[in-house]
Amino acid sequence: MKITSVEFNLFGVNTYIVWDEPTGQAAIIDPGMMDRHEQQMLYDTIEELGVKPTHLINTHLHIDHCYGNDYVMSTYNLPTEANLNEAPLGQQRSGQAKMFHLRVPEPTPLRIDHELHEGDRIYLGNEYLEVLEIPGHSPGSIVLYAPQSGFVISGDVLFNRSIGRTDLPGGSMPLLINGIRRKLMTLPDDTIVYPGHGGATTIGAEKRSNPYIGI
Ligand SMILES: [Zn+2]
Repeated sequence: MKITSVEFNLFGVNTYIVWDEPTGQAAIIDPGMMDRHEQQMLYDTIEELGVKPTHLINTHLHIDHCYGNDYVMSTYNLPTEANLNEAPLGQQRSGQAKMFHLRVPEPTPLRIDHELHEGDRIYLGNEYLEVLEIPGHSPGSIVLYAPQSGFVISGDVLFNRSIGRTDLPGGSMPLLINGIRRKLMTLPDDTIVYPGHGGATTIGAEKRSNPYIGI
């Protein structure tokens, strides 16, 4: 599988596009576009890649990770796929926008159309992304693991030398650290980690030098 990212909005969210080369089937993950210019950037990127979006997936539903869902749903006729424990956050998108004082059109409630659970496989051609539930940053945060290509898309669970904040509603530091240790630090060391903010890293590098994980 191939992967690329575009950085959107004032939170610097990485929106990922993952695709299967033989078929061109693609997943758009965490669309963060907040204005027409950013929507056009996503559209142009997909045109240049020549891929066909077949999945729209959210690692979680904090507003910076799902503001662009409406555009992707209507442009590519795709349902929103996420863990059901994120449903309240989707319902409260306008409240989240207010909390962060965002000067953007007020978002409508976002419904989860297709529930994702631990162990689910989302296929793009013959390859798949496997769903890992790792709550703690938010109640229903998921990480997407591509075992054949050796990478994870970690949302706000794991960052380069850091982890997601746990002070927002539904957050839990012990849950987050326990999930990272059990489900991510057990992956091969050369697995590439593509986080929701900032640059990529590897599982091995995080094992050695992430101050929160302590292995
Ligand atoms: Zn978040």
